Amino acid sequence: MSLAAVLADAAARRPGHPAVVFGPETWTYRQLWLGARRYAAVLAARGVTAGGTVALLLPNSPRFPMAYFGALALGATVVPVHGLLKAGEIEYVLRDSGADVLVCADELLGEGAAGAGRAGVAVLPVSELAERAGRATPIERYVPRAPGDVAVVLYTSGTTGRPKGAMLTHAGLTMNITVTMLSPFRFGPEDVLLGALPLFHTFGQVCGMGVCFRAGATLVLMPSFTAAGAAELLAAHRCTVFMGVPTMFLALLEAGPPSGGVLERAYSGGAALPVKVLEDFEAAFGCPIYEGYGMTETSPVIAYNQPGLPRRPGTVGLPVWGVEAEIARPEPEDRVDLAPAGEVGEIVVRGHNLMAGYLGRPAATAAAVVDGWFRTGDLGVKDQDGYLTLVDRKKDMVVRGGYNVYPREVEEVLARHPAVAQVAVLGVPDARYGEEVCAVVRATEEAEAGPALGAAISAWSRERMAAYKYPRRVEFVDEFPVGPSGKVLKRELAARYERRAA
Ligand code: ATP
Ligand code: MG
Repeated sequence: MSLAAVLADAAARRPGHPAVVFGPETWTYRQLWLGARRYAAVLAARGVTAGGTVALLLPNSPRFPMAYFGALALGATVVPVHGLLKAGEIEYVLRDSGADVLVCADELLGEGAAGAGRAGVAVLPVSELAERAGRATPIERYVPRAPGDVAVVLYTSGTTGRPKGAMLTHAGLTMNITVTMLSPFRFGPEDVLLGALPLFHTFGQVCGMGVCFRAGATLVLMPSFTAAGAAELLAAHRCTVFMGVPTMFLALLEAGPPSGGVLERAYSGGAALPVKVLEDFEAAFGCPIYEGYGMTETSPVIAYNQPGLPRRPGTVGLPVWGVEAEIARPEPEDRVDLAPAGEVGEIVVRGHNLMAGYLGRPAATAAAVVDGWFRTGDLGVKDQDGYLTLVDRKKDMVVRGGYNVYPREVEEVLARHPAVAQVAVLGVPDARYGEEVCAVVRATEEAEAGPALGAAISAWSRERMAAYKYPRRVEFVDEFPVGPSGKVLKRELAARYERRAA
């Protein structure tokens, strides 16, 4: 059950197989695990012990898995810090997690060292770690941990507010890797996975890196995602698997499939994938997208469209094995009252994937976990066959003149307008209705953004949805603000248009 076994075992079984490809570098499993054990020796010399905490501020590179599995091999807890964070936010995560040391990418030392300095945490530049590791005697084997021990404290994306540290256990993470992902999708050593997602986020870390290593497959790492870069790597390394957030699928689609690509399957999660994007991508790339639903707090997968079962685009499929995902009624607040099929309510989750709690936040944990059920903050509905459809985040729901509007539903319709390349729908303050529905649109290259197109889109959507739902206001952007995991930040958009309205 120890998470370190994922890499140790692959090194024992397939020592010479390529584990990570990064630009001109290729690391075999033997080399990667040796590197991790050398990193562990350096960290131990710096005072890290079993039960200690190692924070990582590292963009995607082979140094990430070596530092991650090196710290785990010592029996320490890993705290991956989101790239792009500023000194004050890094300070917050370091203080909050009680880290002993911050392993920091050299190019991020400006913010990293400032944040660590303020938190009183030692900084170890990764170049120094790597250089010392080259001379260090590797530790022999990993320190085994109990299934319920915390392996990783992973911070949520910060889409709706300040990130919270979810305490993820060895059991929860290894179950997600093996039972949830590896077996049903039959990942194997012949798979080549394009690692476009950041490794500091749950999706890329657990479903990407973790599953890949457990399968003894090859991970082609990108330092950061661009559609052109991804297309090139997909073809050059004959990648069989792509995992991404919807903004990545959209960008890949706009760039077009590479010639000579051999993609077999793709996985989308982290945010809603518009059905239009799924259809267009599948047609252009000739491979299925399995959309799934997960959260940092649930290690991460909760439900997905599964091979061998009818796929229902627009739904996130069935709950994964060993995990219950149900719909709770809004009342009563202090108990979980499950709703029948067809009723919209908050999605609640129970099972092997659940975090041990939010680190240092007993009140937040108690509010989130009720009767053993974790309240996700997401609204959903189940059909008679148990397929789950995500309606929206509770926090994103718009209340216009007493009517509930779910932005996701409006987005699905607007995505089909020929002039709309990408859209986000949100509520903006309105004197008369409390909130008004606002569509923020990135227009296609051929279309001309402006008030005339805005009015046309509004009129077009009026014909396709109920009067209280369609966006009376349409704003245009050239680019959407996205968070570190590539998700559109609606709260940033909302702040922009609230200010303008005031
Ligand atoms: P924070 O909790 O800090 O506000 P976050 O919720 O974005 O940030 P993550 O744990 O990365 O942090 O994301 C989990 C959330 O992503 C889910 O609660 C859900 O709202 C959304 N999500 C995940 N998968 C899907 C999906 N397939 N469709 C729609 N939304 C999804
Ligand atoms: Mg969340």
